[in-house]
Amino acid sequence: MKDTILKVKNLKKIYHDKKSEIVALENINFEVNKNDFISIVGPSGCGKSTILSILSKLEKQSDGNIEMDKNITIGYMLQNDSLFSWRTILENCLIGLEVTKQLTSENKQYVLDLLKTYGLYEFKDKYPSSLSGGMRQRVALIRTLAIKPDILLLDEPMSALDYQSRLAISDDIYKIIKNEGKTAIMVTHDIAEAISMSDRILVLSKRPSKVKKVYEINLTDKSTPINNRRCKEFSTYYDMIWRDLDVHI
Ligand code: ADP
Ligand code: MG
Repeated sequence: MKDTILKVKNLKKIYHDKKSEIVALENINFEVNKNDFISIVGPSGCGKSTILSILSKLEKQSDGNIEMDKNITIGYMLQNDSLFSWRTILENCLIGLEVTKQLTSENKQYVLDLLKTYGLYEFKDKYPSSLSGGMRQRVALIRTLAIKPDILLLDEPMSALDYQSRLAISDDIYKIIKNEGKTAIMVTHDIAEAISMSDRILVLSKRPSKVKKVYEINLTDKSTPINNRRCKEFSTYYDMIWRDLDVHI
């Protein structure tokens, strides 16, 4: 049975500056069920990051509602890994717990366990500069998981990586999210990445944006993101979404 944990209703966002206003989101509607992996794709500047900022309460919507149970918590993994260079990997992972005053020995142990499970324990006392881009993304994800959010918001988590690392890290990130039983909303401009990882894809129109199409992704032999790229339905979804995005070259 579907367990809907988040409803976004008629979301509108207008940014104002001194002279003008930008209507970023016109009317956004969608629902998220527990354990869903949802991707949001759309043209650059259409308001994808704005949706995540509103969900995480960094920005306030101009109109519309977000319905969410009071006990549902949200973790936001920003576009670049934004690790602090002067803090060790462990210290970086503990920031969220420090800020929210939840740095108990039990929660610290949870972070150490995550670092162990996902192959980063031996780097816990190193600084971010000594890690590869892919490892830093995993650290950023563990930092976000440290506060035990129910829903993870991921803003183009792989965009700063080269193609090979992006494939590998999409597998890692997917595995971690599924293992930890999380619900995820990921923004990406990479159609293949979205199809390979998601249960559902929202395609946004250009600004002022609306949800133009919703795709339920049903792949035969669905497994890991890398393998999913070989499923026979993959290219059909790719072509349909590519057409929806209406990219003019
Ligand atoms: P996307 O993530 O899809 O590329 P964004 O959500 O970052 O798009 O931005 C949507 C639109 O809103 C863009 O035109 C952007 O310039 C504008 N915008 C985003 N943040 C602000 C802000 N803080 N102030 C004013 N305009 C903004
Ligand atoms: Mg963005």
